[in-house]
Amino acid sequence: MKINTPLKVTALISLVTALILVACLYFVSVFNNIEITLGIYFLIFFIFLSFSAITTYILLEFFINRKIRLLFRMVQDYKVSNSDFKLSMSEDVLSTSEVRILQLAKRSSEELLKLKSEEKFRREFIGNLAHELKTPIFSIQGYILTLLEGGLEDPSVNRKFLDRSLKGVDRMNKIVMDLDMISRFESDRVNMKFGDYNLVELCQEIFDGLELKAQEKNISLKFAENYLNPIIVKCDRDKIGQVIQNLVVNAINYSDAGSEIIIRFLDIESNILIEVEDNGLGINQKHISRLFERFYRVDKSRARNEGGTGLGLSIVKHIVESHGHTVQVRSTEGEGSIFFFTLTKN
Ligand code: ADP
Repeated sequence: MKINTPLKVTALISLVTALILVACLYFVSVFNNIEITLGIYFLIFFIFLSFSAITTYILLEFFINRKIRLLFRMVQDYKVSNSDFKLSMSEDVLSTSEVRILQLAKRSSEELLKLKSEEKFRREFIGNLAHELKTPIFSIQGYILTLLEGGLEDPSVNRKFLDRSLKGVDRMNKIVMDLDMISRFESDRVNMKFGDYNLVELCQEIFDGLELKAQEKNISLKFAENYLNPIIVKCDRDKIGQVIQNLVVNAINYSDAGSEIIIRFLDIESNILIEVEDNGLGINQKHISRLFERFYRVDKSRARNEGGTGLGLSIVKHIVESHGHTVQVRSTEGEGSIFFFTLTKN
């Protein structure tokens, strides 16, 4: 029989103690020629047994339920009360405690890993932010210094340099606005205005707004087919407009002249799948998993030249997720990309 519960330990200790005491009594009585009947021996044995059982039980109970609880109190992050920690005396206490301690240890090491990765993420984020702001700040500083050193009186450069400074300020403003939006999403401070809206009309408006930008690169913006009927989805119109705008702007920025950008709607049960396809540069698979992170860029110099903040896809992800859906990408380097997400159909 395995002695693995406090109750079994109590029984064993009291039995052994009672037997030893009765044996001692026997020797003392034989030595002193005192006659004790078998009945008295049994009575004394049971008295010893009960006394020893009660004291052992109380002591073990005290040590297990008080002392082990104290240990748990030190490692547990919530308040340990008498009621939520009561090990049963007939249970294998040590194994149960071992399992609970191992669970706590596993949770602590997981939390440590999470903290480490958050710390790395925070360091990277601050580094990226400093890097992003450095370029416009240096250029504004340069233009203002040139203006102060005489450029202000030179009509051939004064307006030009002021215009360029303004561009730098606009860029910083865009970075700050985008970050503000992301931080509001991350802290659940965004007011969503859901309604039923026609996606075909919304995308047509976005195409109209980006027509000039696309024409400059001889890129055509198209629907996959002639959507004659409205496609109604439940969404926040402005926010989904921003998602589609960001995806189409990226498609224009990362495609070469003469390419095509196509928007496609597919009816999938209770959802509409929206695809934005380009036959531009495409993205190598190794970048895909990090693409929606803040400031992540594939080709850093090209991305900055196109005027992006590196935050567009992160915003896209937050907006789509706040609609209860996800955004994904399929891409082949050199052939093009398809960014797609779903929305709930009306
Ligand atoms: P950015 O402001 O740099 O465009 P985004 O968050 O919008 O930032 O995009 C992150 C990166 O993903 C871009 O820098 C670019 O390298 C890559 N990317 C985004 N869209 C496309 C696309 N349609 N084709 C190829 N690469 C893309």
